[in-house]
Amino acid sequence: MPAHKQQLVFTIKDKCRVCYTCVRECPVKAIKIVNGQAEVIDKRCIGCGNCVKVCIQEAKVFLKATDQVFELLKSDKKTIAIIAPSFPAEFDEIKDYKTLVGMMRQLGFDYVSEVSFGADLVARKYAHILTHPKDEGFISSDCPAIVFYVEHYSPDLVPYLAPIASPMVAMTRVVKKKYGDDIKVVFIGPCIAKKAESNEVDEVLTFRELREMFIAANISYKDASPSDFDPPLAGKGAIFPISRGLLQTTDVPENIYEGNVIVADGRVDFREAIKEFENGLIRSNNLELLCCEGCIMGPGTSRNGKRFARRTMVSKYVKDKLKAINNTEWQKEIETYKDIDLTQGFMAADRRIPDPTWAEINEVLKTLGKFSEKDHLNCGACGYDSCDEHAIAIIKGLAEEEMCLPYAIEKLHKYIKDLAISNEKLASAQLALKQSEKLAHMGQLSAGIAHELNNPLGIITMYSNILKDECKPDDPIKQDLDLIVEQTDRCKKIVSGLLNFARKNQLNYSEIDIFKLFERSKQSVICPANVQINLISNLKNNMAMVDSDQLIQVVTNLFKNAIEAMPKGGNLDVNLSDKEDEIIISIVDSGTGIAAENMEKIFTPFFTTKGIGKGTGLGLPIIYGIIKMHKGRIDVTSNDNPDKGKTGTTFKITLPRYKTE
Ligand code: ADP
Ligand code: MG
Repeated sequence: MPAHKQQLVFTIKDKCRVCYTCVRECPVKAIKIVNGQAEVIDKRCIGCGNCVKVCIQEAKVFLKATDQVFELLKSDKKTIAIIAPSFPAEFDEIKDYKTLVGMMRQLGFDYVSEVSFGADLVARKYAHILTHPKDEGFISSDCPAIVFYVEHYSPDLVPYLAPIASPMVAMTRVVKKKYGDDIKVVFIGPCIAKKAESNEVDEVLTFRELREMFIAANISYKDASPSDFDPPLAGKGAIFPISRGLLQTTDVPENIYEGNVIVADGRVDFREAIKEFENGLIRSNNLELLCCEGCIMGPGTSRNGKRFARRTMVSKYVKDKLKAINNTEWQKEIETYKDIDLTQGFMAADRRIPDPTWAEINEVLKTLGKFSEKDHLNCGACGYDSCDEHAIAIIKGLAEEEMCLPYAIEKLHKYIKDLAISNEKLASAQLALKQSEKLAHMGQLSAGIAHELNNPLGIITMYSNILKDECKPDDPIKQDLDLIVEQTDRCKKIVSGLLNFARKNQLNYSEIDIFKLFERSKQSVICPANVQINLISNLKNNMAMVDSDQLIQVVTNLFKNAIEAMPKGGNLDVNLSDKEDEIIISIVDSGTGIAAENMEKIFTPFFTTKGIGKGTGLGLPIIYGIIKMHKGRIDVTSNDNPDKGKTGTTFKITLPRYKTE
């Protein structure tokens, strides 16, 4: 059975590299990109095979019938192969056609005939309608892909299809008459669409499949015994694949032919011709149309064929044939079959998808970043001739936005940028994590030490005080005891600072006015005259739940650090802002900045650059601990290199407005 209603062309997904060449070559846009793979939409496909021809990856394959034909040949049914007239173009290595016929017989065909005789008969029919013109012309119906195209995409033109069977069908009817109705007919040709053309043919093979069968059956032209075709033998019809169509093989006078026939082939021209015919521009002309570049280059022929070399092979074959032809014999055969029924009916089956409105098209164009005419590059990279057509195809569900190259490139750029940003974020988060892990370890250690030191320090203070009380007022030891008490107090402060850092202290939450807290802190720091503190509040809501004593400690410590970093004076800009549930504090100084190699260390307890006796290196660790206890975060950016711009440091603190568990 020919492959009626069976899918003719498939994609081998692993091989598809999504180059959109098949989309571009498909005259009916029956190729859809789904999940980055070009898939054939069976319902839209007309089997022209253009996609098979253009896919360099060989990702497009067509339905094969070799197994079925082998089965047929194995069975006891009589079989006849009818071979298309383009065969000399395909089998150029076989110098004598008789060798090919011999090979086909070796495969198991009982008879081997030429379709060209069918073409002879069909050409007479075309000659008849050409010489008996009506007001309106016809469209040739010998190319099945053209017939499918008209039936599905220009259904109103179905009545204009010449109601004449194709040479293949004509020949099938002839051989059935000659060899009996139950003979099995296998057509062999260059075309994929033929596989779905007619139920009258039993199987359809392409030349490529015939080659595969020869290989499978180990048949070579080198040891084949030559044999001639079985009758009826063909005449001039053999030239049909290289003429300007079937009509030229007729004996219609040149002037009638020239004036009436428009020949168009290939995916662009045939559609244009049909469109113009449809629009009534060339209604009185007859259209001789082919979907591909002619049968000798059909998708069922071997790849890489040279068009003009193939032409020469066919014309040489025909020349030799016409030289040797027995004209009376041929005329007799024509007479025998001239009354055979060569009519053919066609059926409209509209598969057009209604065109969207311009508003809809423009909407899609906008998503592709095409807002005005100059954005329409019409580069064709997507496989569609214009941006408009691509947009229409998107609306019809046949295409995807990603097929647009400029759009995809733009998207890619955005992805790269986003990726770079998230990479950067990741790197800084990683750094922060490392830092906080380190600080957590230190916190644990400090808390342990601090806890252990607290008791002995308490005892030292207590006993020193007892001793002091027992001393006489003028006892010289009293001064030493005072020093012990003072230094022990200092130790206790350090210990309590460490406990703060280790977040071992409790927070004492209350609702306070943040702006007021900053004003108070500002007043409480000792600020040299050459340092200007500018407090700016953009707070929409001043109130927040914090431990105000501890927060004051944070602010005064930060102020102190900033002032110490500006020995020659400068500005300290404090900015308060907020969101619904957080307070954002930024403290910017124009000081010396922090050296890059110190950035990682500044929150480490006892890290100071201020020299012995001046800095304790506990300010920032305590700040860090307090902010963490509030479930906030603290970030620092700094520049200490005047070559890179203004030096200075920014501390940014984000605090939750409410107490969070
Ligand atoms: P200390 O102030 O006792 O040195 P801190 O923990 O407060 O300890 O600060 C640690 C170190 O961080 C400082 O010694 C200094 O090097 C650096 N630092 C902190 N704040 C600033 C700032 N605003 N500008 C420059 N350096 C700073
Ligand atoms: Mg400090």
